[in-house]
Amino acid sequence: MSVREIRAKSVLRKHKKIDSWFVSHYGMNLYRGCSHDCVYCDGRSESYYVEGVFGKDIAVKVNAPEILERELDPERRRIPLKKSFMMVGGGVGDGYQPVERDYHLTRKVLQLIEKFDFPVHILTKSTMVKRDIDILKRINEKKKVIISFSFSSVDDHLCSIFEPNVPGPGERMEALAFFKKNGIACGLFLLPVIPFISDDSKLMEQVIKKGKEAGVDFIIFGGLTLKSGKQKSYFLKVLENKFPELSTKYTTLYRENRWGQASGDYYDHLNIRFFKLAKKYRVPVRIPFAFYNDILSENDRVIVILEHMDYLLKIRGDASSYAYAAYSLSKLKEPLSILKSEWKKVSGVGTFTEGIIREILQTGTSAYYERLMGL
Ligand code: SF4
Repeated sequence: MSVREIRAKSVLRKHKKIDSWFVSHYGMNLYRGCSHDCVYCDGRSESYYVEGVFGKDIAVKVNAPEILERELDPERRRIPLKKSFMMVGGGVGDGYQPVERDYHLTRKVLQLIEKFDFPVHILTKSTMVKRDIDILKRINEKKKVIISFSFSSVDDHLCSIFEPNVPGPGERMEALAFFKKNGIACGLFLLPVIPFISDDSKLMEQVIKKGKEAGVDFIIFGGLTLKSGKQKSYFLKVLENKFPELSTKYTTLYRENRWGQASGDYYDHLNIRFFKLAKKYRVPVRIPFAFYNDILSENDRVIVILEHMDYLLKIRGDASSYAYAAYSLSKLKEPLSILKSEWKKVSGVGTFTEGIIREILQTGTSAYYERLMGL
Protein backbone atom coordinates (compact mmCIF):
# COMPACT_ATOMS: atom_id res chain seq x y z
CA MET A 1 0.00 0.00 0.00
CA SER A 2 1.29 3.50 -0.75
CA VAL A 3 0.31 6.54 1.31
CA ARG A 4 0.59 10.01 -0.17
CA GLU A 5 0.09 13.22 1.81
CA ILE A 6 -1.90 15.92 0.06
CA ARG A 7 -3.22 19.34 1.05
CA ALA A 8 -6.91 20.01 0.61
CA LYS A 9 -8.39 23.38 -0.31
CA SER A 10 -11.74 22.54 1.25
CA VAL A 11 -13.16 19.66 3.29
CA LEU A 12 -16.92 20.09 3.64
CA ARG A 13 -18.85 18.86 0.64
CA LYS A 14 -22.27 20.49 0.52
CA HIS A 15 -25.18 18.65 -1.08
CA LYS A 16 -27.49 20.59 -3.39
CA LYS A 17 -30.30 19.84 -0.96
CA ILE A 18 -30.50 17.87 2.27
CA ASP A 19 -29.70 14.18 1.77
CA SER A 20 -32.62 12.34 3.36
CA TRP A 21 -30.78 8.99 3.53
CA PHE A 22 -28.32 10.43 6.02
CA VAL A 23 -30.29 13.55 7.06
CA SER A 24 -27.25 15.58 6.18
CA HIS A 25 -26.30 18.67 4.21
CA TYR A 26 -22.56 18.11 4.49
CA GLY A 27 -20.23 15.19 3.93
CA MET A 28 -16.45 14.90 3.96
CA ASN A 29 -13.71 12.57 2.77
CA LEU A 30 -10.55 12.81 4.81
CA TYR A 31 -8.85 10.12 2.75
CA ARG A 32 -9.07 9.56 -0.98
CA GLY A 33 -8.98 5.87 -1.77
CA CYS A 34 -9.68 3.08 0.69
CA SER A 35 -7.51 0.12 1.63
CA HIS A 36 -10.63 -1.80 2.69
CA ASP A 37 -10.75 -2.48 -1.04
CA CYS A 38 -14.34 -3.73 -1.25
CA VAL A 39 -14.83 -5.36 -4.62
CA TYR A 40 -18.07 -3.47 -5.33
CA CYS A 41 -16.89 -0.03 -4.11
CA ASP A 42 -18.03 2.70 -6.45
CA GLY A 43 -15.14 4.88 -5.26
CA ARG A 44 -13.30 2.90 -7.93
CA SER A 45 -15.37 4.60 -10.65
CA GLU A 46 -13.67 7.24 -12.81
CA SER A 47 -16.43 9.68 -11.85
CA TYR A 48 -14.78 10.16 -8.43
CA TYR A 49 -11.31 10.96 -9.79
CA VAL A 50 -9.46 8.89 -7.18
CA GLU A 51 -5.85 8.73 -8.36
CA GLY A 52 -3.72 5.60 -8.43
CA VAL A 53 -4.78 2.00 -7.92
CA PHE A 54 -7.95 1.89 -5.85
CA GLY A 55 -7.46 -0.11 -2.66
CA LYS A 56 -3.68 0.25 -2.79
CA ASP A 57 -2.96 4.00 -3.06
CA ILE A 58 -4.31 6.27 -0.35
CA ALA A 59 -4.12 10.05 -0.36
CA VAL A 60 -4.28 11.62 3.11
CA LYS A 61 -5.61 15.17 3.44
CA VAL A 62 -3.15 16.10 6.15
CA ASN A 63 -4.42 19.65 6.57
CA ALA A 64 -8.10 18.60 6.74
CA PRO A 65 -8.58 19.50 10.46
CA GLU A 66 -7.05 22.95 9.94
CA ILE A 67 -9.32 23.66 6.93
CA LEU A 68 -12.37 22.18 8.60
CA GLU A 69 -11.87 24.35 11.70
CA ARG A 70 -12.17 27.39 9.45
CA GLU A 71 -15.22 25.95 7.69
CA LEU A 72 -17.08 25.09 10.89
CA ASP A 73 -16.33 28.23 12.87
CA PRO A 74 -19.46 30.45 12.73
CA GLU A 75 -17.36 33.56 13.30
CA ARG A 76 -15.35 32.93 10.18
CA ARG A 77 -18.31 32.19 7.93
CA ARG A 78 -20.22 34.63 5.77
CA ILE A 79 -23.16 32.24 5.42
CA PRO A 80 -24.03 30.06 8.44
CA LEU A 81 -23.96 26.30 7.97
CA LYS A 82 -27.33 24.60 7.66
CA LYS A 83 -28.45 22.47 10.58
CA SER A 84 -28.17 18.72 9.97
CA PHE A 85 -25.91 15.77 10.75
CA MET A 86 -22.28 16.15 9.70
CA MET A 87 -21.68 13.02 7.68
CA VAL A 88 -18.31 11.33 8.16
CA GLY A 89 -17.44 8.36 5.96
CA GLY A 90 -18.82 6.69 2.89
CA GLY A 91 -17.90 8.25 -0.43
CA VAL A 92 -14.39 7.44 -1.60
CA GLY A 93 -12.73 6.38 1.64
CA ASP A 94 -13.68 4.98 5.02
CA GLY A 95 -12.73 7.41 7.80
CA TYR A 96 -11.61 4.44 9.92
CA GLN A 97 -9.51 2.60 7.37
CA PRO A 98 -6.09 1.43 8.73
CA VAL A 99 -4.19 4.62 7.84
CA GLU A 100 -6.36 6.46 10.42
CA ARG A 101 -4.28 4.70 13.09
CA ASP A 102 -1.31 6.84 12.07
CA TYR A 103 -2.99 10.11 11.13
CA HIS A 104 -5.98 10.40 13.51
CA LEU A 105 -7.77 12.68 11.06
CA THR A 106 -11.22 11.35 11.88
CA ARG A 107 -10.56 11.71 15.60
CA LYS A 108 -9.40 15.31 15.13
CA VAL A 109 -12.47 16.04 13.01
CA LEU A 110 -14.75 14.68 15.74
CA GLN A 111 -13.02 16.99 18.23
CA LEU A 112 -13.93 19.92 15.96
CA ILE A 113 -17.49 18.69 15.55
CA GLU A 114 -17.70 18.60 19.34
CA LYS A 115 -16.14 22.05 19.68
CA PHE A 116 -18.58 23.63 17.21
CA ASP A 117 -21.53 21.68 18.52
CA PHE A 118 -22.81 19.71 15.53
CA PRO A 119 -24.60 16.36 15.46
CA VAL A 120 -22.70 13.67 13.58
CA HIS A 121 -23.53 10.54 11.62
CA ILE A 122 -20.66 8.12 10.93
CA LEU A 123 -20.83 5.39 8.31
CA THR A 124 -18.02 2.86 8.45
CA LYS A 125 -17.08 -0.78 8.09
CA SER A 126 -14.32 -0.59 10.69
CA THR A 127 -14.59 -1.35 14.38
CA MET A 128 -11.79 1.20 14.94
CA VAL A 129 -14.62 3.70 15.47
CA LYS A 130 -14.89 2.28 19.02
CA ARG A 131 -11.59 4.04 19.77
CA ASP A 132 -13.45 7.39 19.71
CA ILE A 133 -16.22 6.44 22.13
CA ASP A 134 -15.08 9.16 24.58
CA ILE A 135 -15.68 12.02 22.11
CA LEU A 136 -18.79 10.39 20.64
CA LYS A 137 -20.40 10.09 24.07
CA ARG A 138 -19.73 13.74 24.78
CA ILE A 139 -21.20 14.86 21.43
CA ASN A 140 -24.19 12.61 22.04
CA GLU A 141 -24.86 14.26 25.39
CA LYS A 142 -25.15 17.69 23.79
CA LYS A 143 -26.27 16.87 20.26
CA LYS A 144 -26.95 13.58 18.53
CA VAL A 145 -24.65 10.83 17.25
CA ILE A 146 -25.60 8.03 14.87
CA ILE A 147 -23.14 5.23 14.18
CA SER A 148 -23.93 3.17 11.10
CA PHE A 149 -22.19 0.10 9.77
CA SER A 150 -22.62 -1.26 6.27
CA PHE A 151 -22.96 -4.92 5.29
CA SER A 152 -23.45 -6.77 2.03
CA SER A 153 -24.27 -9.93 4.02
CA VAL A 154 -23.33 -11.56 7.33
CA ASP A 155 -21.77 -14.57 5.64
CA ASP A 156 -18.08 -14.75 6.63
CA HIS A 157 -17.00 -16.43 3.41
CA LEU A 158 -18.80 -13.94 1.14
CA CYS A 159 -17.50 -11.00 3.16
CA SER A 160 -13.93 -12.30 2.88
CA ILE A 161 -14.34 -12.20 -0.91
CA PHE A 162 -16.21 -8.91 -1.35
CA GLU A 163 -14.89 -6.92 1.66
CA PRO A 164 -11.42 -8.43 2.03
CA ASN A 165 -9.84 -5.98 4.48
CA VAL A 166 -12.54 -5.14 6.98
CA PRO A 167 -13.49 -6.75 10.29
CA GLY A 168 -15.87 -9.67 9.73
CA PRO A 169 -19.63 -9.19 10.03
CA GLY A 170 -19.71 -10.65 13.56
CA GLU A 171 -17.27 -8.01 14.81
CA ARG A 172 -19.24 -5.25 13.09
CA MET A 173 -22.47 -6.45 14.74
CA GLU A 174 -20.68 -6.52 18.11
CA ALA A 175 -19.56 -2.94 17.54
CA LEU A 176 -23.16 -1.90 16.86
CA ALA A 177 -24.25 -3.55 20.13
CA PHE A 178 -21.35 -1.78 21.91
CA PHE A 179 -22.56 1.65 20.77
CA LYS A 180 -26.14 0.83 21.67
CA LYS A 181 -25.00 -0.13 25.17
CA ASN A 182 -23.36 3.27 25.37
CA GLY A 183 -26.62 5.04 24.56
CA ILE A 184 -25.74 5.90 20.96
CA ALA A 185 -28.21 5.49 18.09
CA CYS A 186 -27.17 2.93 15.48
CA GLY A 187 -28.04 2.24 11.86
CA LEU A 188 -27.34 -0.64 9.55
CA PHE A 189 -26.85 -0.11 5.83
CA LEU A 190 -27.64 -3.33 4.01
CA LEU A 191 -25.86 -2.00 1.00
CA PRO A 192 -25.17 -3.33 -1.52
CA VAL A 193 -26.69 -6.78 -1.63
CA ILE A 194 -24.95 -8.65 -4.43
CA PRO A 195 -27.16 -10.06 -7.21
CA PHE A 196 -27.50 -13.87 -7.24
CA ILE A 197 -25.06 -14.05 -4.30
CA SER A 198 -26.32 -12.19 -1.24
CA ASP A 199 -29.72 -11.02 -2.51
CA ASP A 200 -31.83 -14.04 -1.57
CA SER A 201 -34.39 -13.79 1.22
CA LYS A 202 -32.49 -16.13 3.52
CA LEU A 203 -29.23 -14.16 3.49
CA MET A 204 -31.01 -10.82 3.68
CA GLU A 205 -33.06 -12.05 6.63
CA GLN A 206 -29.90 -13.12 8.47
CA VAL A 207 -28.58 -9.55 8.31
CA ILE A 208 -31.85 -8.02 9.46
CA LYS A 209 -32.25 -10.54 12.28
CA LYS A 210 -28.71 -10.00 13.56
CA GLY A 211 -29.05 -6.23 13.20
CA LYS A 212 -32.24 -6.34 15.21
CA GLU A 213 -30.51 -8.46 17.90
CA ALA A 214 -27.70 -5.90 18.04
CA GLY A 215 -30.37 -3.25 18.65
CA VAL A 216 -30.13 -1.15 15.48
CA ASP A 217 -32.60 1.72 15.22
CA PHE A 218 -33.06 1.50 11.45
CA ILE A 219 -31.90 -0.43 8.40
CA ILE A 220 -31.37 1.27 5.06
CA PHE A 221 -31.29 -0.92 2.03
CA GLY A 222 -29.86 -0.68 -1.48
CA GLY A 223 -28.87 -2.83 -4.43
CA LEU A 224 -25.60 -2.95 -6.31
CA THR A 225 -24.76 -0.43 -9.03
CA LEU A 226 -21.90 -1.09 -11.45
CA LYS A 227 -20.71 1.97 -13.35
CA SER A 228 -19.02 1.22 -16.65
CA GLY A 229 -15.26 1.58 -16.44
CA LYS A 230 -12.96 0.60 -13.59
CA GLN A 231 -15.70 -0.24 -11.07
CA LYS A 232 -17.55 -2.62 -13.33
CA SER A 233 -14.52 -4.24 -14.91
CA TYR A 234 -12.88 -4.88 -11.52
CA PHE A 235 -16.07 -6.38 -10.09
CA LEU A 236 -16.59 -8.61 -13.12
CA LYS A 237 -12.98 -9.78 -12.97
CA VAL A 238 -13.43 -10.97 -9.36
CA LEU A 239 -16.80 -12.50 -10.26
CA GLU A 240 -15.27 -14.41 -13.17
CA ASN A 241 -12.64 -15.75 -10.79
CA LYS A 242 -14.93 -16.70 -7.88
CA PHE A 243 -18.35 -17.24 -9.46
CA PRO A 244 -17.71 -17.88 -13.19
CA GLU A 245 -21.16 -19.40 -13.63
CA LEU A 246 -22.74 -15.98 -12.91
CA SER A 247 -20.91 -13.95 -15.57
CA THR A 248 -23.63 -14.27 -18.22
CA LYS A 249 -26.36 -13.33 -15.76
CA TYR A 250 -24.45 -10.16 -14.88
CA THR A 251 -23.97 -9.25 -18.52
CA THR A 252 -27.74 -9.40 -18.95
CA LEU A 253 -28.49 -7.57 -15.70
CA TYR A 254 -25.94 -4.75 -16.02
CA ARG A 255 -26.19 -3.27 -19.48
CA GLU A 256 -24.78 0.15 -20.32
CA ASN A 257 -26.31 2.67 -17.98
CA ARG A 258 -24.91 6.03 -16.89
CA TRP A 259 -25.57 5.36 -13.21
CA GLY A 260 -24.57 1.70 -13.35
CA GLN A 261 -28.06 0.53 -12.52
CA ALA A 262 -29.35 -2.97 -13.09
CA SER A 263 -31.86 -3.33 -15.88
CA GLY A 264 -35.52 -4.27 -15.78
CA ASP A 265 -37.43 -4.54 -12.56
CA TYR A 266 -34.65 -6.18 -10.55
CA TYR A 267 -34.54 -3.43 -7.88
CA ASP A 268 -38.35 -3.43 -7.56
CA HIS A 269 -38.37 -7.15 -6.70
CA LEU A 270 -35.47 -6.64 -4.32
CA ASN A 271 -37.17 -3.74 -2.56
CA ILE A 272 -40.32 -5.78 -2.04
CA ARG A 273 -38.23 -8.65 -0.65
CA PHE A 274 -36.46 -6.29 1.75
CA PHE A 275 -39.65 -4.53 2.77
CA LYS A 276 -41.38 -7.80 3.71
CA LEU A 277 -38.45 -8.70 5.95
CA ALA A 278 -38.23 -5.25 7.51
CA LYS A 279 -41.91 -5.52 8.29
CA LYS A 280 -41.48 -8.95 9.83
CA TYR A 281 -38.78 -7.64 12.16
CA ARG A 282 -40.52 -4.28 12.68
CA VAL A 283 -37.45 -2.27 11.85
CA PRO A 284 -37.68 1.29 10.42
CA VAL A 285 -36.30 1.56 6.88
CA ARG A 286 -35.38 5.24 7.16
CA ILE A 287 -33.78 7.30 9.95
CA PRO A 288 -36.62 7.76 12.46
CA PHE A 289 -38.13 11.20 12.83
CA ALA A 290 -37.25 11.46 16.54
CA PHE A 291 -33.55 11.54 15.61
CA TYR A 292 -33.76 14.67 13.50
CA ASN A 293 -36.92 16.43 14.68
CA ASP A 294 -35.16 19.02 16.84
CA ILE A 295 -32.12 19.37 14.57
CA LEU A 296 -33.48 20.48 11.19
CA SER A 297 -34.99 23.74 9.99
CA GLU A 298 -38.72 23.57 9.24
CA ASN A 299 -38.12 23.43 5.47
CA ASP A 300 -35.64 20.59 5.77
CA ARG A 301 -37.93 18.69 8.11
CA VAL A 302 -40.69 18.88 5.50
CA ILE A 303 -38.31 17.87 2.69
CA VAL A 304 -36.95 14.85 4.58
CA ILE A 305 -40.41 13.67 5.61
CA LEU A 306 -41.76 13.99 2.06
CA GLU A 307 -38.78 12.10 0.64
CA HIS A 308 -39.15 9.38 3.26
CA MET A 309 -42.84 9.11 2.41
CA ASP A 310 -41.97 8.84 -1.28
CA TYR A 311 -39.59 5.96 -0.53
CA LEU A 312 -42.05 4.23 1.81
CA LEU A 313 -44.79 4.34 -0.81
CA LYS A 314 -42.59 3.25 -3.72
CA ILE A 315 -41.06 0.36 -1.78
CA ARG A 316 -44.61 -0.98 -1.42
CA GLY A 317 -45.11 -0.62 -5.16
CA ASP A 318 -47.34 2.48 -4.87
CA ALA A 319 -47.00 5.64 -6.96
CA SER A 320 -45.78 8.85 -5.34
CA SER A 321 -44.81 12.36 -6.37
CA TYR A 322 -43.66 13.45 -2.91
CA ALA A 323 -40.00 13.42 -3.93
CA TYR A 324 -40.82 15.80 -6.75
CA ALA A 325 -42.62 18.13 -4.32
CA ALA A 326 -39.66 17.88 -1.91
CA TYR A 327 -37.25 18.81 -4.69
CA SER A 328 -39.34 21.86 -5.63
CA LEU A 329 -39.59 22.93 -1.99
CA SER A 330 -35.81 22.66 -1.61
CA LYS A 331 -35.47 25.64 -3.99
CA LEU A 332 -37.33 28.00 -1.63
CA LYS A 333 -35.16 30.52 0.16
CA GLU A 334 -37.61 31.58 2.88
CA PRO A 335 -39.07 29.49 5.74
CA LEU A 336 -42.25 27.70 4.69
CA SER A 337 -44.22 29.25 7.54
CA ILE A 338 -43.66 32.70 6.01
CA LEU A 339 -44.52 31.52 2.49
CA LYS A 340 -47.89 29.95 3.25
CA SER A 341 -49.66 31.58 0.30
CA GLU A 342 -46.95 30.27 -2.06
CA TRP A 343 -47.15 26.55 -1.22
CA LYS A 344 -49.75 25.74 -3.84
CA LYS A 345 -47.65 27.46 -6.53
CA VAL A 346 -44.74 25.07 -5.91
CA SER A 347 -44.50 22.31 -8.54
CA GLY A 348 -45.72 18.98 -7.21
CA VAL A 349 -47.57 20.46 -4.20
CA GLY A 350 -51.30 19.71 -4.42
CA THR A 351 -54.03 20.02 -1.81
CA PHE A 352 -53.12 16.80 0.02
CA THR A 353 -49.41 17.66 0.19
CA GLU A 354 -50.30 21.15 1.33
CA GLY A 355 -52.21 19.59 4.23
CA ILE A 356 -49.20 17.46 5.12
CA ILE A 357 -46.89 20.50 5.09
CA ARG A 358 -49.30 22.39 7.35
CA GLU A 359 -49.48 19.45 9.75
CA ILE A 360 -45.68 19.11 9.89
CA LEU A 361 -45.28 22.81 10.63
CA GLN A 362 -47.93 22.70 13.34
CA THR A 363 -47.11 19.41 15.04
CA GLY A 364 -43.55 18.63 13.89
CA THR A 365 -44.69 15.49 12.06
CA SER A 366 -47.43 13.97 9.93
CA ALA A 367 -49.78 11.21 11.03
CA TYR A 368 -49.71 9.71 7.51
CA TYR A 369 -45.90 9.62 7.58
CA GLU A 370 -45.86 8.04 11.04
CA ARG A 371 -48.28 5.38 9.79
CA LEU A 372 -46.08 4.61 6.78
CA MET A 373 -42.95 4.48 8.96
CA GLY A 374 -44.69 2.32 11.56
CA LEU A 375 -44.33 -0.76 9.33
S1 SF4 B 1 -15.18 0.59 3.11
FE1 SF4 B 1 -16.53 1.83 1.86
S2 SF4 B 1 -15.16 3.32 0.86
FE2 SF4 B 1 -13.89 1.66 1.64
S3 SF4 B 1 -13.65 0.26 -0.09
FE3 SF4 B 1 -15.38 -0.46 1.16
S4 SF4 B 1 -17.19 0.46 0.21
FE4 SF4 B 1 -15.38 1.60 -0.53
